[in-house]
Amino acid sequence: MVVLKTVSDIVALIGNNRVKGKIGYVPTMGALHDGHLSLIKRCKEECAITVCSIFVNPTQFNDKSDFEKYPVKIEEDIALLIEAGCDYLFLPTVSEVYPSESKSIKYDIGTLETLWEGKYRPGHFQGVCQVMHRFLQIIQPNTLYLGQKDYQQCMVIQKLIHLFGFNTELIIGATIREKSGLAMSSRNIRLSEKDKDAAVAIYNSLVYIKERVAVEPSDAIKKKVDEKLLESGFTSIDYVAICNAETLESLNEFNDSIPTVALIAAYLDGVRLIDNLLIC
Ligand code: AMP
Repeated sequence: MVVLKTVSDIVALIGNNRVKGKIGYVPTMGALHDGHLSLIKRCKEECAITVCSIFVNPTQFNDKSDFEKYPVKIEEDIALLIEAGCDYLFLPTVSEVYPSESKSIKYDIGTLETLWEGKYRPGHFQGVCQVMHRFLQIIQPNTLYLGQKDYQQCMVIQKLIHLFGFNTELIIGATIREKSGLAMSSRNIRLSEKDKDAAVAIYNSLVYIKERVAVEPSDAIKKKVDEKLLESGFTSIDYVAICNAETLESLNEFNDSIPTVALIAAYLDGVRLIDNLLIC
Protein backbone atom coordinates (compact mmCIF):
# COMPACT_ATOMS: atom_id res chain seq x y z
CA MET A 1 0.00 0.00 0.00
CA VAL A 2 1.29 3.44 -0.89
CA VAL A 3 0.68 6.21 1.66
CA LEU A 4 0.29 9.67 0.13
CA LYS A 5 0.17 12.88 2.08
CA THR A 6 -0.14 15.56 -0.57
CA VAL A 7 -2.88 16.38 -3.05
CA SER A 8 -0.41 16.62 -5.94
CA ASP A 9 0.98 13.12 -5.20
CA ILE A 10 -2.40 11.41 -5.02
CA VAL A 11 -3.74 13.23 -8.09
CA ALA A 12 -0.68 12.13 -10.11
CA LEU A 13 -0.76 8.53 -8.90
CA ILE A 14 -4.49 8.04 -9.41
CA GLY A 15 -4.19 9.68 -12.84
CA ASN A 16 -1.61 7.06 -13.84
CA ASN A 17 -3.90 4.27 -12.64
CA ARG A 18 -7.15 5.25 -14.33
CA VAL A 19 -6.37 3.07 -17.34
CA LYS A 20 -6.41 -0.02 -15.09
CA GLY A 21 -10.16 0.28 -14.47
CA LYS A 22 -12.56 1.61 -11.86
CA ILE A 23 -11.21 3.73 -9.01
CA GLY A 24 -13.09 2.97 -5.77
CA TYR A 25 -12.88 5.23 -2.75
CA VAL A 26 -13.60 4.71 0.95
CA PRO A 27 -13.40 7.93 3.02
CA THR A 28 -12.84 7.49 6.78
CA MET A 29 -11.77 9.34 9.90
CA GLY A 30 -9.62 6.41 11.03
CA ALA A 31 -9.65 4.24 14.19
CA LEU A 32 -10.71 1.58 11.72
CA HIS A 33 -12.97 -1.34 12.60
CA ASP A 34 -14.77 -4.09 10.71
CA GLY A 35 -17.41 -1.62 9.45
CA HIS A 36 -14.73 0.33 7.56
CA LEU A 37 -13.00 -2.86 6.47
CA SER A 38 -16.24 -4.26 5.01
CA LEU A 39 -16.32 -1.21 2.70
CA ILE A 40 -12.67 -1.73 1.71
CA LYS A 41 -13.43 -5.40 0.98
CA ARG A 42 -16.41 -4.54 -1.22
CA CYS A 43 -14.42 -1.82 -2.98
CA LYS A 44 -11.63 -4.30 -3.73
CA GLU A 45 -14.12 -6.80 -5.13
CA GLU A 46 -15.72 -4.25 -7.45
CA CYS A 47 -12.90 -1.89 -8.46
CA ALA A 48 -9.43 -2.12 -9.99
CA ILE A 49 -7.95 0.36 -7.52
CA THR A 50 -8.97 0.89 -3.88
CA VAL A 51 -8.27 4.27 -2.32
CA CYS A 52 -8.92 4.96 1.36
CA SER A 53 -8.52 8.29 3.13
CA ILE A 54 -8.04 8.92 6.82
CA PHE A 55 -8.76 12.50 7.78
CA VAL A 56 -10.39 13.71 10.98
CA ASN A 57 -12.14 16.66 9.42
CA PRO A 58 -12.25 19.56 11.89
CA THR A 59 -14.98 21.43 10.00
CA GLN A 60 -17.61 18.75 10.62
CA PHE A 61 -17.28 18.74 14.41
CA ASN A 62 -19.80 21.07 15.98
CA ASP A 63 -18.51 19.97 19.42
CA LYS A 64 -14.85 20.90 20.06
CA SER A 65 -14.35 18.27 22.76
CA ASP A 66 -15.73 15.51 20.48
CA PHE A 67 -13.05 16.53 17.94
CA GLU A 68 -10.31 16.60 20.58
CA LYS A 69 -11.32 13.18 21.93
CA TYR A 70 -11.71 11.57 18.50
CA PRO A 71 -9.54 8.41 18.58
CA VAL A 72 -6.37 8.39 16.45
CA LYS A 73 -4.68 5.01 15.79
CA ILE A 74 -2.76 5.58 12.61
CA GLU A 75 -0.18 2.75 12.95
CA GLU A 76 -2.88 0.14 13.62
CA ASP A 77 -5.01 1.57 10.79
CA ILE A 78 -2.15 1.28 8.29
CA ALA A 79 -1.57 -2.36 9.32
CA LEU A 80 -5.28 -3.16 8.89
CA LEU A 81 -5.42 -1.49 5.47
CA ILE A 82 -2.33 -3.38 4.27
CA GLU A 83 -3.88 -6.64 5.46
CA ALA A 84 -7.16 -5.75 3.67
CA GLY A 85 -5.28 -5.14 0.42
CA CYS A 86 -5.95 -1.40 0.09
CA ASP A 87 -3.86 0.13 -2.72
CA TYR A 88 -3.56 3.78 -1.70
CA LEU A 89 -4.02 5.58 1.59
CA PHE A 90 -4.50 9.33 1.40
CA LEU A 91 -3.39 10.82 4.71
CA PRO A 92 -3.42 14.59 4.33
CA THR A 93 -2.86 17.36 6.88
CA VAL A 94 -5.54 19.97 7.53
CA SER A 95 -3.62 22.61 5.54
CA GLU A 96 -3.31 20.23 2.59
CA VAL A 97 -7.09 19.74 2.53
CA TYR A 98 -7.91 23.37 3.27
CA PRO A 99 -5.20 25.64 1.82
CA SER A 100 -5.51 29.21 3.11
CA GLU A 101 -6.71 30.47 -0.27
CA SER A 102 -9.64 28.01 -0.39
CA LYS A 103 -13.09 29.58 -0.23
CA SER A 104 -15.95 28.08 1.74
CA ILE A 105 -19.29 27.60 -0.02
CA LYS A 106 -22.78 27.26 1.41
CA TYR A 107 -24.10 23.86 0.31
CA ASP A 108 -27.81 23.75 -0.40
CA ILE A 109 -28.86 20.38 0.99
CA GLY A 110 -32.46 21.38 1.69
CA THR A 111 -34.24 19.89 4.69
CA LEU A 112 -31.36 17.46 5.36
CA GLU A 113 -29.72 20.49 6.96
CA THR A 114 -32.45 20.97 9.59
CA LEU A 115 -33.77 17.45 10.25
CA TRP A 116 -32.37 15.02 12.86
CA GLU A 117 -28.54 15.06 12.66
CA GLY A 118 -28.76 18.40 10.88
CA LYS A 119 -30.80 19.88 13.72
CA TYR A 120 -28.80 18.44 16.60
CA ARG A 121 -25.36 19.02 15.04
CA PRO A 122 -25.60 22.51 13.52
CA GLY A 123 -23.02 23.02 10.78
CA HIS A 124 -22.05 19.33 10.75
CA PHE A 125 -23.32 18.56 7.26
CA GLN A 126 -21.82 21.75 5.82
CA GLY A 127 -18.46 20.43 7.07
CA VAL A 128 -19.19 16.98 5.62
CA CYS A 129 -20.03 18.55 2.24
CA GLN A 130 -16.93 20.73 2.35
CA VAL A 131 -14.57 17.81 2.92
CA MET A 132 -16.35 15.41 0.56
CA HIS A 133 -16.52 18.03 -2.19
CA ARG A 134 -12.77 18.48 -1.89
CA PHE A 135 -12.00 14.74 -1.75
CA LEU A 136 -14.28 13.94 -4.69
CA GLN A 137 -12.54 16.64 -6.73
CA ILE A 138 -9.11 15.26 -5.81
CA ILE A 139 -9.80 11.52 -6.18
CA GLN A 140 -12.57 11.59 -8.80
CA PRO A 141 -13.63 8.05 -7.94
CA ASN A 142 -15.87 6.01 -10.22
CA THR A 143 -17.42 4.47 -7.11
CA LEU A 144 -17.74 5.82 -3.58
CA TYR A 145 -18.38 3.44 -0.67
CA LEU A 146 -20.23 4.69 2.42
CA GLY A 147 -21.86 2.88 5.34
CA GLN A 148 -25.58 2.82 6.11
CA LYS A 149 -24.56 3.40 9.75
CA ASP A 150 -24.54 7.12 8.85
CA TYR A 151 -27.84 7.05 7.01
CA GLN A 152 -28.47 10.78 6.74
CA GLN A 153 -24.84 11.39 5.77
CA CYS A 154 -25.31 9.02 2.82
CA MET A 155 -28.29 11.11 1.71
CA VAL A 156 -26.31 14.34 2.07
CA ILE A 157 -23.39 13.00 0.02
CA GLN A 158 -25.73 11.62 -2.66
CA LYS A 159 -27.18 15.13 -2.87
CA LEU A 160 -23.69 16.65 -3.10
CA ILE A 161 -22.78 14.26 -5.95
CA HIS A 162 -25.94 15.33 -7.75
CA LEU A 163 -25.51 19.08 -7.06
CA PHE A 164 -21.98 19.16 -8.49
CA GLY A 165 -22.51 16.58 -11.21
CA PHE A 166 -19.74 14.22 -10.04
CA ASN A 167 -19.47 11.15 -12.22
CA THR A 168 -19.42 8.92 -9.16
CA GLU A 169 -21.71 6.05 -8.22
CA LEU A 170 -22.58 5.81 -4.52
CA ILE A 171 -22.67 2.34 -2.96
CA ILE A 172 -24.04 2.03 0.56
CA GLY A 173 -22.70 -0.90 2.60
CA ALA A 174 -24.71 -2.57 5.38
CA THR A 175 -24.07 -1.57 8.99
CA ILE A 176 -21.63 -3.99 10.60
CA ARG A 177 -22.51 -4.84 14.19
CA GLU A 178 -20.96 -6.52 17.21
CA LYS A 179 -22.52 -9.90 18.09
CA SER A 180 -24.66 -8.03 20.62
CA GLY A 181 -26.16 -5.88 17.86
CA LEU A 182 -24.22 -2.73 18.79
CA ALA A 183 -23.23 -0.90 15.59
CA MET A 184 -19.46 -0.70 15.26
CA SER A 185 -18.19 2.85 15.60
CA SER A 186 -14.81 4.47 16.23
CA ARG A 187 -16.45 6.28 19.15
CA ASN A 188 -17.15 2.92 20.87
CA ILE A 189 -13.46 2.95 21.90
CA ARG A 190 -14.48 5.60 24.43
CA LEU A 191 -17.04 3.27 26.05
CA SER A 192 -16.26 0.98 29.01
CA GLU A 193 -17.28 -2.69 28.75
CA LYS A 194 -20.27 -1.88 30.97
CA ASP A 195 -21.23 1.02 28.68
CA LYS A 196 -20.98 -1.27 25.65
CA ASP A 197 -23.52 -3.62 27.25
CA ALA A 198 -25.83 -0.67 27.92
CA ALA A 199 -25.32 0.74 24.41
CA VAL A 200 -27.01 -2.32 22.90
CA ALA A 201 -30.28 -0.66 24.00
CA ILE A 202 -30.11 1.49 20.85
CA TYR A 203 -30.15 -1.52 18.53
CA ASN A 204 -32.75 -3.30 20.68
CA SER A 205 -34.93 -0.17 20.48
CA LEU A 206 -34.65 -0.11 16.69
CA VAL A 207 -35.70 -3.76 16.53
CA TYR A 208 -38.56 -2.98 18.92
CA ILE A 209 -39.71 -0.15 16.64
CA LYS A 210 -39.59 -2.47 13.64
CA GLU A 211 -41.68 -5.07 15.48
CA ARG A 212 -44.27 -2.63 16.84
CA VAL A 213 -44.65 0.02 14.17
CA ALA A 214 -47.49 -1.70 12.33
CA VAL A 215 -49.56 -2.21 15.47
CA GLU A 216 -48.94 0.80 17.72
CA PRO A 217 -48.98 4.59 17.10
CA SER A 218 -45.52 6.06 16.48
CA ASP A 219 -45.78 8.49 19.41
CA ALA A 220 -46.49 5.69 21.88
CA ILE A 221 -43.57 3.63 20.52
CA LYS A 222 -41.20 6.60 20.70
CA LYS A 223 -42.22 7.31 24.31
CA LYS A 224 -41.51 3.69 25.29
CA VAL A 225 -38.15 3.78 23.50
CA ASP A 226 -37.17 7.01 25.30
CA GLU A 227 -37.95 5.30 28.62
CA LYS A 228 -36.08 2.14 27.62
CA LEU A 229 -32.95 4.12 26.66
CA LEU A 230 -32.95 6.18 29.84
CA GLU A 231 -33.49 3.06 31.99
CA SER A 232 -30.55 1.40 30.23
CA GLY A 233 -28.20 4.21 31.24
CA PHE A 234 -28.38 6.69 28.36
CA THR A 235 -28.21 10.16 29.87
CA SER A 236 -29.90 12.12 27.12
CA ILE A 237 -31.64 11.47 23.84
CA ASP A 238 -31.38 13.76 20.82
CA TYR A 239 -34.06 11.97 18.81
CA VAL A 240 -35.96 8.75 18.22
CA ALA A 241 -37.40 9.12 14.71
CA ILE A 242 -39.66 7.00 12.57
CA CYS A 243 -39.57 8.58 9.16
CA ASN A 244 -39.82 8.39 5.40
CA ALA A 245 -36.59 6.71 4.28
CA GLU A 246 -36.34 8.96 1.20
CA THR A 247 -37.17 12.38 2.68
CA LEU A 248 -36.57 11.82 6.42
CA GLU A 249 -39.91 13.52 7.16
CA SER A 250 -41.49 12.13 10.34
CA LEU A 251 -44.28 9.58 9.81
CA ASN A 252 -47.09 9.63 12.32
CA GLU A 253 -48.84 6.64 10.84
CA PHE A 254 -47.17 3.54 9.48
CA ASN A 255 -47.90 2.63 5.88
CA ASP A 256 -46.03 -0.34 4.45
CA SER A 257 -46.07 1.20 0.99
CA ILE A 258 -43.87 4.09 2.22
CA PRO A 259 -40.16 3.26 2.63
CA THR A 260 -39.53 3.76 6.33
CA VAL A 261 -36.42 4.08 8.49
CA ALA A 262 -36.01 4.39 12.26
CA LEU A 263 -33.18 6.62 13.48
CA ILE A 264 -31.83 7.14 17.00
CA ALA A 265 -29.18 9.46 18.46
CA ALA A 266 -28.46 9.40 22.19
CA TYR A 267 -25.67 10.01 24.70
CA LEU A 268 -24.10 7.36 26.90
CA ASP A 269 -21.45 8.49 29.38
CA GLY A 270 -20.73 11.60 27.30
CA VAL A 271 -20.39 9.65 24.03
CA ARG A 272 -22.93 10.41 21.31
CA LEU A 273 -24.09 7.25 19.50
CA ILE A 274 -26.25 7.00 16.39
CA ASP A 275 -27.84 4.05 14.67
CA ASN A 276 -30.69 3.29 12.29
CA LEU A 277 -32.72 0.41 10.88
CA LEU A 278 -34.73 0.17 7.68
CA ILE A 279 -38.27 -0.83 8.58
CA CYS A 280 -39.64 -1.40 5.09
P1 AMP B 1 -16.10 7.31 9.88
O1 AMP B 1 -14.67 6.91 9.97
O2 AMP B 1 -16.88 7.07 11.13
O3 AMP B 1 -16.28 8.69 9.29
O4 AMP B 1 -16.77 6.31 8.84
C1 AMP B 1 -16.24 6.15 7.54
C2 AMP B 1 -17.22 5.36 6.72
O5 AMP B 1 -17.43 4.08 7.33
C3 AMP B 1 -18.60 6.04 6.63
O6 AMP B 1 -19.14 5.85 5.33
C4 AMP B 1 -19.40 5.27 7.66
O7 AMP B 1 -20.79 5.27 7.42
C5 AMP B 1 -18.81 3.87 7.54
N1 AMP B 1 -19.07 3.11 8.75
C6 AMP B 1 -18.86 3.50 10.03
N2 AMP B 1 -19.27 2.55 10.90
C7 AMP B 1 -19.78 1.54 10.14
C8 AMP B 1 -20.38 0.27 10.44
N3 AMP B 1 -20.54 -0.15 11.68
N4 AMP B 1 -20.77 -0.50 9.40
C9 AMP B 1 -20.62 -0.08 8.12
N5 AMP B 1 -20.05 1.09 7.77
C10 AMP B 1 -19.65 1.90 8.76
